[in-house]
Order: sequence, then structure tokens, then C-alpha cells
Amino acid sequence: MRMMDLGALRIVQLHDGYGAIDGNRVFYPATQDEWGEGTGADPTGFMLNAYQPLLINEAGLHTLVDTGFGQTNPGRRRDMQDDLRSLGLAREDIRRVIITHAHGDHIGGNTLLVDGKYLPAYPNAEYVVQQSEIASLQEEGGPVWQQRFAPLQSSGQLHVVDGEVSLTQAITLWPIAGHTAGQQAVCLQSEGAQAIFVGDLGLSIKSFARPDWGPSWAWSREADQANRRRIAEWAIETGALVMLYHEPRTPWFRIRRATAGNGDYCTIPE
Ligand SMILES: [Zn+2]
Repeated sequence: MRMMDLGALRIVQLHDGYGAIDGNRVFYPATQDEWGEGTGADPTGFMLNAYQPLLINEAGLHTLVDTGFGQTNPGRRRDMQDDLRSLGLAREDIRRVIITHAHGDHIGGNTLLVDGKYLPAYPNAEYVVQQSEIASLQEEGGPVWQQRFAPLQSSGQLHVVDGEVSLTQAITLWPIAGHTAGQQAVCLQSEGAQAIFVGDLGLSIKSFARPDWGPSWAWSREADQANRRRIAEWAIETGALVMLYHEPRTPWFRIRRATAGNGDYCTIPE
């Protein structure tokens, strides 16, 4: 398990399994000749994809960022619950869950299906999500809302926020719409050290070397690209550590301005 101390915070990367993803869709509109180097992609463009929620321990209070697949996708080979158990934590010990965005690989574990009923998977946690992320889901009332969010609302655990908000002295949420309508990043600050968990603002470390290449399925490719540049510039200015959800090999890195040719930014794995 990857972990570090950031000032007074302890940060742990949990592992919820592996899959494969089409690099041609991840780095749209680049071709594999352009994006392929160093990604380990096979000749058809598929590359390894990991699912990696974050656990933050702030003075003994545990915050989880994203909930993985939960009971969905049983073939993924790893389950973050095993990591929590090995840290000595039960579901009841998680006091806050931050949802970066409402895609299945990030919210599948919000709830548990028990005797035909969806229940909050973390019974003592508030679940924090942006209003702009769930507005249309709630309006449509489809299965994502019914199964992953409505049970949290019923139990009084859904905490809907709107825009930038500080949850504690160390944890601030920043809207980074683009991948979805209401994706949010989790900015961490403690004793002068800074880090930012950006959800799917970058699917690969290479997404930050070449911020103009982005997922073809983004809600707004333009907004996604603009936020990738904005966060990269901020990370260069502050020296903050950038953390990704899907990057399997080098998910934590810093960003510098590129000195020559090979992209807009230079990424330095931690
Ligand atoms: Zn994702």
C-alpha cells in the first residue's frame, strides 16, 4: 500500500483492482504513435487501468475519497475493503466520504445491497458531493440515483455542496468540471505541504504532460482541458503533489514546466 505523511495528515492509497482501458479514447484526439510511448499499451491501444481511492487520516478522523466498485465488477481482482481491514479499519470507522464524480468505478461502493435493499456502505459517514454532479441524476431518478445516492439521502448522510468549500483546515474541495458536470478535486494542506487528488481530471500521468489530450467521453472536453492546465499551473507554482485515481504505476507526481520539445509539462513521479 502506498502511503505518506503530508504535514500532520496520513494519506493512504487504497487498491480496488485493475482493468484495461483504450488509450485512443483516453488521449483523444492523439494517435497511438503520438501517445503510446511509456504507457505499456498493447498494439490495439489497450493499457492497464487501476482503481485507487484515497484514505486521509486527519487527527484520527478518517476521510475516504471515492468508494470504488463495491459489489459491482467482481472480476477486478482487488477489493479496497481488504486494504481497510489490513489497516485495522471497519466501515463504521469512516466518518466522511468525498465523491469526486458519479461514475460507476468511483461510486459503486457508496452503498451495499442487503436483502434486496440498498444501504449506506459507511453508516457513520457524511457523503460529500457537488450539487452540479447530482442534479441531473436526481432529476432523472434512474438506477444510479436510486441505488447509489437516494439511500444516502434517506439516511440523512448526503451532504451536497456548491462550489469551492473547506471541510476542515486541511481539506478543501475545488470544482473541476469537465470530465463530468460536477467533478471536484480534493486539495490537502498541512504544515506548509500541499497535495491535490484530482479524480479523473487525468487518467494517466501522461494526461498532465499533454493536457490537450483528454477522454473522448468527457462531459465537456474544453472545460476538462482548461481545468487540467489550470491545476497543472497551480501545482507548478505551489510545488503540490498531484494524485490520480487510475494511473497504475506512477499515480503520485509533481509537475514542472517542460524545458524542451516533448510535451507541455514535465511530470516527476514521487
Ligand atoms: Zn474513473
